[in-house]
Amino acid sequence: MKVTVVGTGYVGLVAGACFSSFGINVTCLDNNEEIIEKLKSGEITIHEPGLEDVVKNSILAGKLAFSTSKAHLQNADVIIIAVGTPQSADGSANLDYLNGVVDDIANNVTDDKVIIIKSTVPVGTAEKTLQLLYTKAPERKFTVVSNPEFLREGSAVSDFMKPDRVVIGLKNGMERETIQLLYTKLTEAGVPIFYTDNASAELIKYSSNCYLAMRLAFLNEMSDIAEVVGANIDDVSAGMGGDKRIGKHYLKVGPGFGGSCFPKDTAALDYLSTQIGAKSKIIDAVIAANAGRKQNLAERAYKMLNTNADHTVTVWGVTFKANTDDIRDSAALDIIDFMISKGVKIQAYDPSNTAQFANKYPDLNLAESAAAAAKNSDLIIICTEWEEFKSANFAEIAGVMRNKQIFDMRNLLGSSPSDDFKYSCLGKNA
Ligand code: NAD
Repeated sequence: MKVTVVGTGYVGLVAGACFSSFGINVTCLDNNEEIIEKLKSGEITIHEPGLEDVVKNSILAGKLAFSTSKAHLQNADVIIIAVGTPQSADGSANLDYLNGVVDDIANNVTDDKVIIIKSTVPVGTAEKTLQLLYTKAPERKFTVVSNPEFLREGSAVSDFMKPDRVVIGLKNGMERETIQLLYTKLTEAGVPIFYTDNASAELIKYSSNCYLAMRLAFLNEMSDIAEVVGANIDDVSAGMGGDKRIGKHYLKVGPGFGGSCFPKDTAALDYLSTQIGAKSKIIDAVIAANAGRKQNLAERAYKMLNTNADHTVTVWGVTFKANTDDIRDSAALDIIDFMISKGVKIQAYDPSNTAQFANKYPDLNLAESAAAAAKNSDLIIICTEWEEFKSANFAEIAGVMRNKQIFDMRNLLGSSPSDDFKYSCLGKNA
């Protein structure tokens, strides 16, 4: 079976590499020449634990290739669409990239194809894609499969290889054989495949992400309550999560959810629910609570700067979570933007040394180490839960700071690393 994955970003590269490791012939296609050139020369374009080995082994085995040529749409038995679906100004999912790929398929393909939509798309997109393809190329038979992806950045390879389930949405009567073949290795390993219709598969993805975002927003509100009543949010979370009906995941206090999925997916479902006249009050509240969370914590951090002028704030972690280089919608950016708007100097450090940061803040260089970022600083804010920060050399750091303060927005350190520091965290007495 020959597979072409269109879009070689966080999802497309991981999915393409993992499918190729199953022995499937995969070409990862992207219209960004720089990405493809880097991958061809052996450079991995995203920070994702374990990915480099999978990519290198598959290339050596002759199972994985990279290209910008649309000829690979025609060469494939299966086309997997994994392009971005970012947020439009009105909150809806922007389907320009996806529609661009559909055009490419209609213009470059001359026989029947199975097309899998892995991108997160609004309910009805698979059906519209099918209609569009029939209109543009009525003589061909297309099968459009909704196969939303649930991997998490930072553990994407293991999530892809060992998913809790694979969700497949298909129109009644369409063939399952190809998709079964694609996922044979996973089904042999006992991974359940959940078959449904396209609309349900699309809604499963949005409702899953919105539900997880809701848990995070909920716990952050509980954290505010815990602070007032003198409870400990970490204990509250552990106590709640010990109940099997609730479970322990996505119950961690933090500076507000970010990333390339939750913010845009909550906005897109909010938009869709409004458009169809079934407005979700819960999702609306989750979005508002999360925006308020980021603002409140930025203000709270700013109030810790009690010197009169020339404040310097150190931001540890700019990615939206640990073990990725992705800064899209990271809460750290809201904190940084707020501080800059107040005239505060920012010194940031991130273990991923993410290149995305320089694109967004050309005037801010990431420091070379956690200690270097703390030099002459009045406050360290821990924005991302990188393990590295736990073992920082706090004696050295205390020696280089102007005001020795830490605001731990991930409750990562647990308590003050030494008596030198004034330490604050969330939802409990530090
Ligand atoms: P991304 O921005 O990292 O990658 C998208 C890639 O598609 C880019 O490299 C871009 O150059 C390429 N592209 C755009 N138009 C193209 C075209 N016409 N032809 C070829 N390539 C094209 O995006 P991502 O984070 O991988 O997300 C992709 C989709 O998967 C989104 O819908 C997202 O919501 C969903 N998703 C993402 C994650 C995640 O953790 N990132 C998890 C699950 C689902």
